[in-house]
Amino acid sequence: MSTPEDLSISWQDLLEALPDGTALIDVHGVMHYANAELAYLTGYTHDELVGQNVQMLIPPVLRPMEGEARRQYAQDPDTRIIWNDRELTVLCKDGTERSVDFALSSLTVDGHRWTVGSIRDNSAQRAAEQARAEAEQHFRLAFEDNMAPMVFTDLDDRIIATNDAFCSMIGRTRNELIGFDSKPFTYPDDVGIAESSHSRFLHGEIRQARYVKRYLHRDGRTIIAEVSKSPARDKTGKTLYFIISERDITEERMLTAQLSHQALHDPLTGLANRALLDDRLAQAHSRIMRQGGHGALLLLDLDDFKGVNDTYGHLVGDQLLEAVARRLEAVTRTTDTLCRFGGDEFLYLAEGISGSDEAELIANRYLRSLDEPFAVGGLNLEQRASLGVVVWNSSNVEVSDVLRDADVALYEAKRLGKGRHFVYVPGMHHQAVNRFSIVQELRQAVASGDLAMHYQPIVRLSTNEVVGFEALMRWYHAERGWVPPSDFIPLAEGSDLILELGAFALHESILAASEWGRSKDSLSEPYVSVNLSARQFHDPGLLALVKRELDLCSLPADRLILEITEGVALIEVADTLQMIEQLTTLGIGVALDDFGTGFSSLSYLALLNPMIIKVDQSFVRPAISSIHSDRLLETIVSLGHNLGMTMLAEGIETQDQLETLRGLHCSLGQGFLFSRAVPFSEAAALVGTSFSF
Ligand code: C2E
Ligand code: MG
Ligand code: MG
Repeated sequence: MSTPEDLSISWQDLLEALPDGTALIDVHGVMHYANAELAYLTGYTHDELVGQNVQMLIPPVLRPMEGEARRQYAQDPDTRIIWNDRELTVLCKDGTERSVDFALSSLTVDGHRWTVGSIRDNSAQRAAEQARAEAEQHFRLAFEDNMAPMVFTDLDDRIIATNDAFCSMIGRTRNELIGFDSKPFTYPDDVGIAESSHSRFLHGEIRQARYVKRYLHRDGRTIIAEVSKSPARDKTGKTLYFIISERDITEERMLTAQLSHQALHDPLTGLANRALLDDRLAQAHSRIMRQGGHGALLLLDLDDFKGVNDTYGHLVGDQLLEAVARRLEAVTRTTDTLCRFGGDEFLYLAEGISGSDEAELIANRYLRSLDEPFAVGGLNLEQRASLGVVVWNSSNVEVSDVLRDADVALYEAKRLGKGRHFVYVPGMHHQAVNRFSIVQELRQAVASGDLAMHYQPIVRLSTNEVVGFEALMRWYHAERGWVPPSDFIPLAEGSDLILELGAFALHESILAASEWGRSKDSLSEPYVSVNLSARQFHDPGLLALVKRELDLCSLPADRLILEITEGVALIEVADTLQMIEQLTTLGIGVALDDFGTGFSSLSYLALLNPMIIKVDQSFVRPAISSIHSDRLLETIVSLGHNLGMTMLAEGIETQDQLETLRGLHCSLGQGFLFSRAVPFSEAAALVGTSFSF
């Protein structure tokens, strides 16, 4: 081993070779040597340092510390002090301070104590530390104070860090979370979701995961969170931990669920709506196509429900609909779908049934469920329904036809007298299609003014003078010409359209009568006789409507006669009596139309006490004339007379018939012998005239 002397290396050379700024300091602090690095670091020249006290390089606040260190050396030369743990600086010539690590060591040569002081510039390291501190601060902002719930987990998916947002989302403190996995506060069914994605991470199958899972909040609520998870890796790609960021989507999901429920359910009854039923029907149909079996669709319509709304108001109507919905629901199998189809119609879709027998059982169960009266709005209301049933299988129908067929069957059930069901018979719809398209066209006709009232004169048989007119409706159809009312009135009676037609007839007829009265003397003012259908007569709004029209045209009530058939009068006799009484009070006359065809009992006739009885044409013009038919006519006419009613004979076509009726003292008559029903202007020309027979 050679010495520096052997190698011809001086101690100065050694000091100059050191990477640190170094000074040789005596016990008084005086620097006897300073290397070039020290000069460089402090900004002084070698000569400016040598001979000066080292305190010149020490910032005032650190000077006592340096003194203390040197004193320690004096006592214990073996001490070696390195300060790199605190922020030390050296005072440079230009007054600035440079951040350094600082080391002092003692040296004894020939009994003299020396201190070797060295400093190393550490500003680069300090800058790095500063940067790290700032990064930590940023991280805190990004993580701890983030509004988004965040969690870091280790390779076992245990929580190593979490922020406030996550804690408050699930209602737990950090202490309860750190070191644990999320199982204890995960919704039991969803534990597997997080587990499976974690294991896929560990197997390197995925680099990022996104899933939705539910948590259990401490207060018992279920929280739905959207989770996105990604690994934090080192430079080599090794996973260090996982960063999980979450989003509380509970409200969002609830809102969506609510909206989709609203989109598919009827707000009043909470039952499925048409959109949902359409969907289920399409599914059921394709299942039947694939797997066979039968499906049934039951279309239920409440009978005369409109009356409830009109009489008791919509509030009661709504309550009744709800109550009906609950009854129907109670007899609905869970596998089937019950829907409110709109208004007072309900649809029931049954799958997997054996055939029409079972469908009829269901239909009966439905109808029977409405047997008991409904207690709503302090009332006890009876509410029955009619049902159209269609049963289908894979061979016989298109899904779009099912609904139509149910509708056709319902129409038939109504026509047969309501409160019953009717099972669709294949082919039935051909009639119905025609019927529906006519109703459609008729609606159009009302709107576009293709309906008109024609007027058939009513004649006093003793004098042949015109005393009134019966208003008869006519429909001018572009292709079919004038369509008689017998072709369209019965169709309109199946829907609300009849009320529109009825209102039109009243309006036109009352207006016409008021015109006829104007030009002539008051003695010859003719009355107008308007036909009412059942729906119209039993409509609670009728009285108000009639009054309004009379007022509008200033037509005295006694110039209006309303005609109802026996059939109409015998529906709800109590109602009929009340209505007749109210009309009579107003001064409006009631005529019983087509008398003799309805088999009403004589006691009813006396009870109804109409002003006029219109003897049906079949008695005036019997198919086979005989002694008996003559007697029949005679009996009817004298019967009316005995009850004090005015008798009117319909359908007089011949002079003979006229003579017969005159012989029976029948007071009024109408028929082709005098005139057919004619348009308003022609009728006007007949006012105040007499026929000459
Ligand atoms: P209705 O009330 O019994 O009317 C008498 C019908 O007999 C009318 O037929 C009339 O044209 C017809 N007629 C009159 N005299 C004779 C005759 O001498 N010989 C023959 N063969 N027929 C005669 P129309 O106009 O076809 O009306 C048929 C039915 O349609 C009416 O029977 C009535 O029930 C109904 N109707 C007509 N207009 C209206 C209306 O505005 N509202 C309602 N609800 N029903 C109406
Ligand atoms: Mg009539
Ligand atoms: Mg008649």
